[in-house]
Amino acid sequence: MTKFIVLLGPPGAGKGTQAQIISKTLDLAHVSSGDIFRENLKNQTDLGKLAQTFMDRGALVPDDVTIAMIQERLGRPDCNNGALLDGFPRTPTQAKALDDMLSENKQNIECVPYINVPGEVLVERLGGRWTCPTCGFVYHEKFNPPINAGICDKDRSELYQRVDDKADTVKKRIDVYWEQTSPLIEYYRENGTLAEIDGTQAIEIVTSQLLEAIQRSNS
Ligand code: ADP
Ligand code: AMP
Ligand code: ZN
Repeated sequence: MTKFIVLLGPPGAGKGTQAQIISKTLDLAHVSSGDIFRENLKNQTDLGKLAQTFMDRGALVPDDVTIAMIQERLGRPDCNNGALLDGFPRTPTQAKALDDMLSENKQNIECVPYINVPGEVLVERLGGRWTCPTCGFVYHEKFNPPINAGICDKDRSELYQRVDDKADTVKKRIDVYWEQTSPLIEYYRENGTLAEIDGTQAIEIVTSQLLEAIQRSNS
């Protein structure tokens, strides 16, 4: 049985944080569109250079490019049992493309946890986010700090702040979310896969509620 789960929520809701934890618990590939773009940017591929022009100003990368990238990623062997999608889909066109990709292989999305967090909290979360360039682990200077400030607990790399976590870009990304991504809440509510979770709670509580929601969708 394959298991495809889509984590939905605004930037800063905690999708990446939760995906890192529950992908291990559920033994699913963690597919983050933002991480794939950043990896391409690090390697200076054509895709990375193109994506950067959109990412730096908080805009979405065009649908055709993003859909092709995810289709290729989901075709790799580690997604044979399913995947935990984080940051994709972000538009109704992407959501339909994902449904089509999966239904071609007689697969479908099992559950769409929607991690709901209000705007003021998002700004504080993204402003204090620190990321590891080596393992991608995400910290927060106040809410989830590393043992030694600025240093990854796992591999001792120096943490960095994402350029798109600057205050004006954060504001733009949240606007883009409301304009282009929030219609997906209704899309998945209507097809019965949405499970709303209060993302303002502590990380461990969100994790356990996510796992419960995924388990419920399975029964
Ligand atoms: P997303 O992937 O949805 O953009 P992240 O997982 O990167 O969000 O989280 C954004 C920031 O908020 C990070 O710095 C993370 O450490 C912090 N964070 C995530 N979940 C919580 C939570 N439940 N409470 C407080 N801070 C959180
Ligand atoms: P994230 O890491 O999810 O915060 O994404 C960082 C940036 O990558 C976004 O602001 C977009 O520019 C781009 N991006 C990530 N996922 C998508 C997507 N599904 N569609 C379009 N652009 C995306
Ligand atoms: Zn690390």
